[in-house]
Amino acid sequence: MPGILVAAISLLFLSCRSLTSIDDHALVLPSARIETRQAPAADELSSPTRVVVLGTGTPIPDAFRAGPSIAVIHKGESYLFDAGAGAVRQATIARYKYDIPSLYPSEICCVFLSHLHSDHTLDLSELAHTLWWRRSESLQAWGPAGIERMANALLELIAADADFRINGLQPVANPDGYKIQHHTIRPGTLLEKDDLLIEAFVVNHGDIEPAYGFKVTTDDLSLVISGDTAYSEVIAEKSQGVDLLFHEVISRQGLERNSPDFQRYHNSVHTTSDELARLAVIARPGKLVLYHGLFYGSEESTVLDEIRAIYDGEVILADDLQSFSSERR
Ligand SMILES: [Zn+2]
Ligand SMILES: [Zn+2]
Repeated sequence: MPGILVAAISLLFLSCRSLTSIDDHALVLPSARIETRQAPAADELSSPTRVVVLGTGTPIPDAFRAGPSIAVIHKGESYLFDAGAGAVRQATIARYKYDIPSLYPSEICCVFLSHLHSDHTLDLSELAHTLWWRRSESLQAWGPAGIERMANALLELIAADADFRINGLQPVANPDGYKIQHHTIRPGTLLEKDDLLIEAFVVNHGDIEPAYGFKVTTDDLSLVISGDTAYSEVIAEKSQGVDLLFHEVISRQGLERNSPDFQRYHNSVHTTSDELARLAVIARPGKLVLYHGLFYGSEESTVLDEIRAIYDGEVILADDLQSFSSERR
């Protein structure tokens, strides 16, 4: 009887999609290739800024959506925003799908964590420690207060592995390659490199404090990444006229399927589709890209319908591995 009940609930929330695209990757992508770079190649330096949405998911396990992670690739470096579960595997696929050498996991230089909810951090260890012995520079990670504790805990997690590799016969490029270089985020400029500027600003994620959104500006692209947030005026302000606004969303219809206590929680920490539409009316981004969507059994397309009922600009519900490039260069 409990089995039947589970099956019935599963059917209620079922949203079927084909696995064909995943099979396609397996057919055309190389496997087990070791890559190291001394420096970015000339064509990487001259490529337009590109954004690849590595994962569009949430804490809820999903066969089609990895945990939230967005990669910005600029002049031969990849900058990740959040590292949800599966992000590293997605980066490996994206490296070959789009021919982006800096997305090879041990070549990724930097990650920026919007907040320390686990769905945004579960792949931090994977990112820092995949092939760490071939890293000349260890991973740099920016995060809210608590990032130091997390980085230190990961040192414990990898301690036995580090001992084996450093003290054994295995060649190691940099004996500190497994140590995350961590930085605590303060609002304002986090990184400025040539014509790349990465800024953080505080968003309202209910009682999860602090939580940050990010603005990235390059010579040919501007974007804002909301992280997890309830309706935050600062996002409307920061994303005025940007090319891309990546924003989390919870379906209004899906929210109403939740119990009253979960509705109260979600209302205080996430942005409903109608609230996001009102934010977009103010910000008017070039493209509004939805990720970290909570649907709770409603058809995914309902968030698009709910937003388009209020906002007439371009809205995209992102899929994992969807890519956006500057059209200006
Ligand atoms: Zn989240
Ligand atoms: Zn969160």
